[in-house]
Amino acid sequence: MGGDEAALDIPEVEPVAISEDTMKDVTRILSSDAFEGRMPGTIGEEKTIALLTERFAAAGLKPGNGDSWLQEVPLIEITGKNFAPLTITNGDTDLVYDFGDEWVGVTYREDAKTTLANSELVFVGYGINAPERGWNDYESVDVKGKTVVILVNDPDWQTEGLDGPFGGKAMTYYGRWTYKYEEAARQGAAGALIVHDTAPASYGWNVVESSWSGAQAYAQRGDNAPPLTQMNGWVQKDVAREILQAAGQDLDALSEAAKQKGFEAVPLGMTASTSFESDFRSFTSNNIIGILPGSEAPDEYVLHTAHWDHLGRCTPAPDGDDICNGAVDNATGTAALVALAEAHAKAGPPRRSLVFLAVTAEESGLLGAYYYAANPVYPLDRTVGGINMDAFQVAGPAKDVTVVGPGKSQLDRFLDAALKADGRVATANPKPEAGYYYRSDHFAFAKEGVPMLYIDGGEDLVEGGRAAGAAVAADYTENRYHGPKDEYDPNWDWSGVMADLQLFYRIGRSMAMSTSWPNWNEGDEFRGVRDEACAASEAGC
Ligand SMILES: [Zn+2]
Repeated sequence: MGGDEAALDIPEVEPVAISEDTMKDVTRILSSDAFEGRMPGTIGEEKTIALLTERFAAAGLKPGNGDSWLQEVPLIEITGKNFAPLTITNGDTDLVYDFGDEWVGVTYREDAKTTLANSELVFVGYGINAPERGWNDYESVDVKGKTVVILVNDPDWQTEGLDGPFGGKAMTYYGRWTYKYEEAARQGAAGALIVHDTAPASYGWNVVESSWSGAQAYAQRGDNAPPLTQMNGWVQKDVAREILQAAGQDLDALSEAAKQKGFEAVPLGMTASTSFESDFRSFTSNNIIGILPGSEAPDEYVLHTAHWDHLGRCTPAPDGDDICNGAVDNATGTAALVALAEAHAKAGPPRRSLVFLAVTAEESGLLGAYYYAANPVYPLDRTVGGINMDAFQVAGPAKDVTVVGPGKSQLDRFLDAALKADGRVATANPKPEAGYYYRSDHFAFAKEGVPMLYIDGGEDLVEGGRAAGAAVAADYTENRYHGPKDEYDPNWDWSGVMADLQLFYRIGRSMAMSTSWPNWNEGDEFRGVRDEACAASEAGC
């Protein structure tokens, strides 16, 4: 994936004082028990809004949505019930599968009753349509009203290195289940069933079963929302094997064939039927937005994003503590919006506007970020790019920062300039196969074409090196992450956080002082969307 070496205007940035007291105060207050874990739609949201708007205003920001600091995000919770079995038939033999153990399915539509009746089954390999890679698994087949059977991950996931049409072992967006359902819907499919397989999915069937049963939260859909299938689901690998066998096919052989460019989808000569009902609950949450208007190009925007929400009350710890305070995740990132806003305002407005966006419902699936990206307050073709912050590392200074999804866009060159100025280095995402770039808020913007950086704290600690950094990360994952003990600790060493903030300040400032419009690198999966948006835009990117 060759980088695009076109000249870019990357202005040098003076270092600035960023307030450690702001980081401490805002993190401590947001993660206090009084905020009850900042679940969207609760008292914790009201308190978060009050605190952030007060601090944004005091920093010198203007309300980011007309006269308001808020963008309302209408959410809906859909809970499926009364699932009929999934029945597959070729006219002679019926194969019948139970919900939960063997398959799961949900609807994203607001339909009280979902019925899939004798929908023809088509095996579509990895279910990918990637024009920039000359790859279209749907090319030879019309799947309108049919049910597609799709492999998880992307065709070269078993490669050792990072070379291949889909980034080798690194997961591209084409490997994520969200993409597969979206593409199936664009193709007009009635149903989409992904074949679960533990290794390429990177989680077991138990995770699929638990996260796809019970209430699912979504952002409510606007009028221009993209199409939806009637039903999206997963089947166990053995179930898929049995279905294909009954169709006279072999799962392993088809999986091999699907790795080759030019693979043709295979109609299975069988149909799928099932039905279920859904309950709905609507409620409203909010994205919180402040802006520092630019001095020369106020209608060009640079984003800083962080999710303010967390999990609320949750499974209690042994001591009975049932508030998931979300101190690191993501009171730190939210506090960082305030600290960066203060620093930029103090330095005076740069030429472009800086937007500080605290999004809601990340923990339910990036819902606030998706909603903003679908209903942007500032046009996306006037949005230069941005940086997302999700969970800082509070164990002292690191020599490096972790760059999640490096090599995707020209924003890397703003990052490189800032790293150089600060005498620090980047560690490229250590687990590319997990596809972390596609799992936090920046992704919602990337998907709509806006170049976004996602940078995490480093693991090469000044004291203790990589071993110490890995131990800190492991301790957090095991004992605190998404649990009641992700709590504020007055003994944290903030010096590493402050160094990371200096870096984020430099990157954001430089982008806001620049006259360039950095793009995705040639061949990146988001390049086409951006190029199209920019070509259609009058004043834009
Ligand atoms: Zn988070």
